[in-house]
Amino acid sequence: MNRRQFLSTAAAGVATFVRAPQAAAAQAARYDLLIRGGRVIDPSVRLDAIRDVAISGGRIAAVEANITAGAADIIDARGRLVVPGLIDIHTHTGRSAEGPPLVLQDGVTGWIDAGSQGADRIADPVAVARAAPQQARVLINIGRLGVIPAGDTMDLARADAGAAREAIAKNRDFIIGVKVRLSREVAGANDYEVLRRSREVADGFGLPVMIHMGQTLSPLARLLDLLKPGDVVTHMFAPPPNSVVDDNGRILPEVLAARRRGVWFDIGNGQNGHMRWDTIGAIMKAGFWPDTFSTDWNTNSRTTGVIDLPNCMSKLLGYGMTISEAVARATLNPSRVFPVFNDRGTLNVGAPADVALLELREGTFEFLDNYKGTITGRQRLFPAGTVLGGKRIPLSAK
Ligand SMILES: [Zn+2]
Repeated sequence: MNRRQFLSTAAAGVATFVRAPQAAAAQAARYDLLIRGGRVIDPSVRLDAIRDVAISGGRIAAVEANITAGAADIIDARGRLVVPGLIDIHTHTGRSAEGPPLVLQDGVTGWIDAGSQGADRIADPVAVARAAPQQARVLINIGRLGVIPAGDTMDLARADAGAAREAIAKNRDFIIGVKVRLSREVAGANDYEVLRRSREVADGFGLPVMIHMGQTLSPLARLLDLLKPGDVVTHMFAPPPNSVVDDNGRILPEVLAARRRGVWFDIGNGQNGHMRWDTIGAIMKAGFWPDTFSTDWNTNSRTTGVIDLPNCMSKLLGYGMTISEAVARATLNPSRVFPVFNDRGTLNVGAPADVALLELREGTFEFLDNYKGTITGRQRLFPAGTVLGGKRIPLSAK
């Protein structure tokens, strides 16, 4: 199914099911929760309008103007954006048990730990993901020690395909892909071989590979050659050497070919080496926009330029991206990258009731890249509440 078919199918779903809640309203049925009067932005059905969102039994029951039926709980969302729960496909939330409730406060109702650990300690992030309140899954680092200061696979022996296979086989329910970090200080001259091994391991289970690009020794084109539909390139805004864009502002033909064959391009904001405004400007100007926003989140993200996913989503508003386009890249699009999120990223009737409330503030805001560079924006999204599985998540003081 292509994107157009997907959208029209989703829209048809709304048309089919929209009558049931009206009938229920006539019988004065009560909803569990009503989110009232917000600006509902749901790119999965191309909706951007003031609507009420009614929830019953943990699922979206109706999205309509002025729902009159009562509800056990009501959220006044006037002046707020109401969007599908945010999905962050590149985080390190699996590093500690405190991570999942923290990102839930940011509106993140689904996350992926992208390679914090390899085969030797994969049980740790898997346990955090399993215990998380929201949907969470893990990518296994091909380096058996995970992310290490000496460079995950600088010693090629650490890219142990056998160990990775065994770890995946033991955790098939939570490991949904293989992460491979390819920068020169992580993999050195081993980059291509390490990716080749990752490919082999992933293929054995029918899983995708996520590559961490940027500042590699091998040319990006050579590395992309190993990627298949469904794979993910993270840190797509990484500055040279081996950026997606050349010195003349042209996107590499191999990068365009990768997107055409179904490789996803993700931001992975992070802290070091992944984002620089001049490179971002050139890539955005060339029209090569990201498929997904992601934070590369860590427990210290509040104090780095990441802050939270809504802040990262605000960074391209000054490059011509609309709010709705930004929301799509943190909801609908990530829901399509990993099948585990296939029924999320939407407020379609019947979908699990994961909802993020956001506040769109106007003013003067500074956004940070990874090189202490700042740009000034006139709008910024702030987290303003989360509903998970139909239940309101209490806001904690930050
Ligand atoms: Zn990362």
